[in-house]
Amino acid sequence: DPTVGVLALQGDVREHLAALAECDVIARPVRRREEIASVDGLVLPGGESTTMSKLVDTFGVRDLIAARIADGLPAYGSCAGMIMLARTVLDGRPDQRGFDGIDMVVRRNAFGRQVDSFEAPVDLAGVEGGPVRAVFIRAPWVESVGAGVEVLGRVAPGTATGGVDAAAADGAAASGRIVAIRQQRLLATSFHPELTGDLRVHRMFVEMVRAAA
Ligand code: GLN
Repeated sequence: DPTVGVLALQGDVREHLAALAECDVIARPVRRREEIASVDGLVLPGGESTTMSKLVDTFGVRDLIAARIADGLPAYGSCAGMIMLARTVLDGRPDQRGFDGIDMVVRRNAFGRQVDSFEAPVDLAGVEGGPVRAVFIRAPWVESVGAGVEVLGRVAPGTATGGVDAAAADGAAASGRIVAIRQQRLLATSFHPELTGDLRVHRMFVEMVRAAA
């Protein structure tokens, strides 16, 4: 079985490890260079991208992760992890930096400051069995993508529920926004499938890891 690492500097590492453990891979938390160097796939968890960016430097792993991604290492980022994979981040802190993996522009905390969290059913290209229950927590959206990026899913108008102000998440600015994309071996979602018990997004990523191996 391939080894999939979850970058364990900050964020919801345990939840991703638990989801991966059910997908027939060896799932491990990784933070040191030797650990990152040996994985067949890497998950960048949700959390706080500004903090993650700092810790990536503290642990001295920025160049290694960026190089492995540029070399074709399959990687999956959820929420803050999506931000870490993006080429361009809007509304980020001036000093935050990611791995420049995916040719896309993401907007941090995009669904509105008042909207701490909400859910929506999202249909994903390549995922069978109906929409996933997408959980958004101070989530980014994808503002635009380059030619090589495949859009996998969007928030459909009128589908957001729950949270502090689902109506705001459902507003004109938010509806139709891209929340899942793939660029070759890189996958990113604005939402957190690791929190729902639905393994389909992790299985899609594991398939990408197996195909690359
Ligand atoms: N708002 C966070 C950030 O900017 C992302 C939130 C999350 O990962 N749930 O990194």
